[in-house]
Amino acid sequence: MRDPRFDILFEPVRIGPVVAKNRFYQPPHCNGMGSWRPQAHAAMRGVKAEGGWAVVNSEHCSIHPTSDVVPEVLHALWDDADIPNLALMCEAVHAHGALAGVQLAYAAYYNSNRYSREVPMGPVARPVDSYYPVQVRQMDKADIRNLRRWWGDAARRARKAGFDIVNVDANFSTAAFQFLSPRNTRTDEYGGSLENRVRLLRELIEVTQEAVQGACAVSVRVIIDEMCGPRGLQAHQDGIAAVALLGDLPDLWDIVVGTWADDSPTSRFAPENAHEPFLKGIKAVTKRPVVGVGRFTSPDTMASLVRRGILDMIGATRPSIADPFLPKKIEEGREDDIRECIGCNICASSHFQMTNLRCTQNPTMGEEWRKGWHPERVPPKASEDSVLIVGAGPAGLECARALGQRGYRVTLAERGKQLGGRVTHEAGLPGLREWLRVRDWRVGQLRKLLNVEIYRESDVTPETVLELGPSHVVLATGARWRADGVGRATHLPVPVEAGVAVFTPDDVMDGRTIPGPVLVLDDDHYYMGSLVAETRARAGAAVTLVTPAPEVAAFTESTLELRRIAQRLDALKVRMVTHHMLARAGAGEAQLLHVHTNRSMGLAASAIVMVTARLPEDRLYRALEAMPDRLADAGIKSVTRIGDCLAPGAIFHAVYAGHRYAREFDAPPVEIAFQRERIVL
Ligand code: ADP
Ligand code: SF4
Repeated sequence: MRDPRFDILFEPVRIGPVVAKNRFYQPPHCNGMGSWRPQAHAAMRGVKAEGGWAVVNSEHCSIHPTSDVVPEVLHALWDDADIPNLALMCEAVHAHGALAGVQLAYAAYYNSNRYSREVPMGPVARPVDSYYPVQVRQMDKADIRNLRRWWGDAARRARKAGFDIVNVDANFSTAAFQFLSPRNTRTDEYGGSLENRVRLLRELIEVTQEAVQGACAVSVRVIIDEMCGPRGLQAHQDGIAAVALLGDLPDLWDIVVGTWADDSPTSRFAPENAHEPFLKGIKAVTKRPVVGVGRFTSPDTMASLVRRGILDMIGATRPSIADPFLPKKIEEGREDDIRECIGCNICASSHFQMTNLRCTQNPTMGEEWRKGWHPERVPPKASEDSVLIVGAGPAGLECARALGQRGYRVTLAERGKQLGGRVTHEAGLPGLREWLRVRDWRVGQLRKLLNVEIYRESDVTPETVLELGPSHVVLATGARWRADGVGRATHLPVPVEAGVAVFTPDDVMDGRTIPGPVLVLDDDHYYMGSLVAETRARAGAAVTLVTPAPEVAAFTESTLELRRIAQRLDALKVRMVTHHMLARAGAGEAQLLHVHTNRSMGLAASAIVMVTARLPEDRLYRALEAMPDRLADAGIKSVTRIGDCLAPGAIFHAVYAGHRYAREFDAPPVEIAFQRERIVL
């Protein structure tokens, strides 16, 4: 049962008029479902509550049309008709004895009101943060009075919806925070001194308290350090001082650092508990419970933060996405079963892609309602069929694990000595060590499944498949990077003169010697191009990263890493050339073309690393496909490709593909594999 070291995590915590049953707090987080997909949203929050989180929060909930963040998919409480969407969440959370919290927010600078077409408002007049061509007008006293009134109305609706905790959001996107920031240059009683800048936040807390009449707790989520030096709030200057000014006014403090990118760094750039230096000292200025985040997956770290008096409740968003049952597993003494977050931020990227939350580690995330997938439970086997899975990368491992959990007889064969496929290779790149958790959690679970046999150093050929004669064959044989330059920008190979040294990321990961200066062509736009450049620069080579995109590693804007990647490459003196494509590689010099103007540019390069696209490793599939009669004679009913072997993608695609195969195995085929929430006229 539970390790007594962790008893402290299961102590109840009083939050104003309500009591959290333990110290596990799921802070507000975006999820791409919100009011557009309220049933999916409620089911996801319900699963968190079932997994043992004492407090489960909604995401940003806009209180008024003048604060519309469309196209982002979030919540709203603009009028009473919005209540049922959120009541659904409260019911799902209450069904498991957890407290439901709502994050009331009034955005400033961050919203362009594209949907409502109201003029955006903020502490001072200036353009909105995005490149949308609209400006924010400065709020006058009447606007502030209106804001208080709208806020009170939204808080009353939150109470009606059934929430136990109403959160006053002073996170990076909100007016409450923009007033608090030293960049608020107002000259009235809402600007200037810290006392003045904190005034709006104080008023919003008071308005909320008045509206909920003691029936709900009132919490505050606030930034205490903007991570930009004296231009912003600094924890040990005015950040903690702002908390001190409000002291015991709210019932709970939920502390945030910087923008979302600062608050949720990937494991490539920050370890667990990176914010502790900012959190120290908060408890000295308030008697109210304090929550903080830090991608906590280690129960020891969590218990230590409470014991050392830094936090009262453990805020964990990504860990709760990767494993909604994290608290339950600690409670049951099953820490080894925790599916630890790898810190990749694919979850954050789903918000920007405006679709249901996706997670690399947890393929059921976002699928709780629409596919009925539960993170812990799978349907039992429906036949005695056996399955041979070839390839133990993320797709093969997850497929074997989930089929094994269902009770099927599974054989998993891997050519290499090590399991993990691409994850094992890529984890050797700088900063990606924690990605090994994708492999290690699955291998740990597979060890407990007696119905799954794993064979390493087993190069599976068509003959092996026929000899083994399983009922079904799954090919999860992965992909290799291609070297010819074909990618998004060019569908035809890039002309390369004889003698030019061309490499791929596979060569880099295999440790091949690459002569400098090196040109890295990144037409992949995720992490690999920047990591290849980083690796070569660390080895001492002069490196130029060339990309046809307007940004280096363009997709990483969605994983909140772009700025850090650019900073790291800059620190390593990697030259970054955007808007250019490699037109021709000659001996010692490459020709680049500007993607818009076609102007050409020469670049010295002794080696080119093509980071453009991958080719499925599907030779085994092709061979098997060509022998249907022999397969039938061997009793083999199906051969299926999954993961990168079918279509190369990110790791989360491969894990999902493995899981999906296992879930749908022995189930009747359906045309549309999920239920949809839609407006039906
Ligand atoms: P995915 O991301 O789709 O899981 P990976 O590239 O990570 O794909 O993993 C594919 C794995 O399949 C690699 O570990 C590779 O060694 C293994 N593999 C490829 N072909 C064979 C084969 N014929 N027999 C056994 N293992 C194979
Ligand atoms: Fe963690 Fe990545 Fe899952 Fe997000 S997507 S919760 S960062 S494993």
